Amino acid sequence: MDQIVFSLTLTVFCAFLVYWYIRFALILPLEGRTRETERSFARFTAFSREMMDHVYVPESAEHYGDIVNYYMVKLHKAFPDSSMLVFESSEGRWKLINYLKNFKAEPKLMTSYQLDVFDKCASDGEPVRMERASLDGSSEVEALFDSFGIVSGVAVPFMQGGGQARRILLYCDPCAGRRDGSYPEEPYLRFIAAQLNAIHKTSDKLVAARKEQEQLRGELNAVLRELDMAGSRLIRGAKERKALYEVVTKVTGEETDVAKGTSAILNVVAKMVDADVVSCLRFDEGRNELVVTPGSFGIPDEERMRYSIPVDNLASASVRSFLNGKPFMSPDAQNDPEVQPQHAKLWSIRSLMIVPIALHNRTIGVLRVGSRRKDCFTQDQLEFLSIIADELAIIMEMISLYENVSATAKELAQLNKLKDEFLSTVSHELKTPLTTIKGFVSVILSGEVGPLSEQQANFLSVVDQATNRLTNLISNLLDLSRLNGKVEMEFAVISLKDLIRDSAAAMLLKAKEKGISLSFSTDEDLPPVFADVRWISQVIDNLLINAIKYSGRGARVVISGSTKGEVAVVCVEDTGPGIPPEEQKLVFDKFYRGKTNASQVPGTGLGLAISKSVVEKHGGKIWLESRAGSGSRFLFALPVAKQKRGAVPADAAGR
Ligand code: ADP
Repeated sequence: MDQIVFSLTLTVFCAFLVYWYIRFALILPLEGRTRETERSFARFTAFSREMMDHVYVPESAEHYGDIVNYYMVKLHKAFPDSSMLVFESSEGRWKLINYLKNFKAEPKLMTSYQLDVFDKCASDGEPVRMERASLDGSSEVEALFDSFGIVSGVAVPFMQGGGQARRILLYCDPCAGRRDGSYPEEPYLRFIAAQLNAIHKTSDKLVAARKEQEQLRGELNAVLRELDMAGSRLIRGAKERKALYEVVTKVTGEETDVAKGTSAILNVVAKMVDADVVSCLRFDEGRNELVVTPGSFGIPDEERMRYSIPVDNLASASVRSFLNGKPFMSPDAQNDPEVQPQHAKLWSIRSLMIVPIALHNRTIGVLRVGSRRKDCFTQDQLEFLSIIADELAIIMEMISLYENVSATAKELAQLNKLKDEFLSTVSHELKTPLTTIKGFVSVILSGEVGPLSEQQANFLSVVDQATNRLTNLISNLLDLSRLNGKVEMEFAVISLKDLIRDSAAAMLLKAKEKGISLSFSTDEDLPPVFADVRWISQVIDNLLINAIKYSGRGARVVISGSTKGEVAVVCVEDTGPGIPPEEQKLVFDKFYRGKTNASQVPGTGLGLAISKSVVEKHGGKIWLESRAGSGSRFLFALPVAKQKRGAVPADAAGR
């Protein structure tokens, strides 16, 4: 029994010993390690959370440097005995760019080292732990460790790009010669390296995106600028086309006043290029000068009158442009040795453009455009002016033609006036002696002053007829000269019916003498006309006399009056020789006499000219219808008199 009790007691004792052995030797250290692991894990978790909370994407290299700095500070806070150095790869060497905490010697930033270990570490992308004691004593790493008093360090590569880390954090700690070779900072260092790599990658992407954005923005701005310029070019082009159109319209339009036309064009030019003075200088061959034309813009008249430049004055930019046919531009004409400054100063001109004006390859002048502002004209505007100058050439040619024509017209008018005065004077002077001659010839022919021999009577009859012809001519000339001058018509409401009947009656005897039958007919309701009875009677007489005069024996002459709407038409028709087509337009000209009958039939060639003038002064129209060999029809139309008193035919009014 005792033995059994002893055995049991021993067994319990042994079990107790085993329990305590297991508890002290195995379980307690394991528990301690587990708690330590938990603590360090909690520390690491807190550290990494804090790091994560401060992650932001840097916008520049400086920002990235700041982040690295922040991580170093935090790491140092977690491991207060540590110190750190940061290297950057630069042209095959490692340059010291940052450090934290004290070293044996003060590190010198920007010093570079040849560190093969770092090269390998950067290309492997894995942290490398180095103990001073285990370094072989020949490398530069060893020298580095020695100079900074480093006993143990971990090279952590970061800022990966293109399979290579560009920077290395050399973490230095005092735990040299740890038995198992482990180090607690490892997860921290790996975490930091991973973070810095990720941040760098994102930052790289952001920078690339920013760069791309900038580039796109630049390109967009360039496109916008281009569009802007194209828009302005379009607007300017449209404006120029409009100006050109205005100029061409002025040139080809109905503007008869050339000065006004030029002025309008120069105004358009001034408006287009925003100029203060625009003038046109025409080459005057007689004076051998460039002379300013009428219609300048921005030059007072009295200045304009004095404005001309001799063509031998080669100092003048206008003369040179005129002679060499090339445009000229100056940003500041008052201080330009190429320009004679007096005109520029006179009108305070700074910017100046001059373009030659050429017509059919011949330079006929220049166009000068000035502005009071400096350097305000462009090459485009100079080209635009050259186009305008081509149009101006046409108008300048018109000016010269116009001047020639108006000088000739003035001369002609003068001559015409002289001729009228001469005719009028001569006719009056001739009429008086002719009346006397005719009077005395009639008296002698009548035998009142004694008997005449047959021959004397014949001779005197010839004198009498000649006197009649002369009297006729003179009275025609006088009529014509009156009609050309300011003849006073005595308008009244008259009956054409009466006029036709009276004229026909007056001509009846003449017709009978020539064996011609003369008759008349008028519409029953032929309305009255508003006319000068003496002049219209003369027209009817002229037409009847011609019909009788030019028709042969046995012919028929009919005068009729009819109404055609608003006009009354008088027609004198004969069965005489007619008028060939080529003469029909000429018979109403002064002094024109038909080719075939001029020598056989007496006449002055003035009857139809007078008739035309009279009818037209009544606002009417005269014309003829004839075919050679089959008679002639002379017609004239007069506006019917309105019932209202004082209503005067349009053309007759105001005469
Ligand atoms: P004149 O009769 O004095 O020559 P007019 O001016 O009256 O001058 O006529 C001009 C010309 O018109 C005449 O010379 C004649 O050739 C032509 N002429 C005019 N009337 C007739 C007519 N009825 N028949 C043929 N020719 C005519």
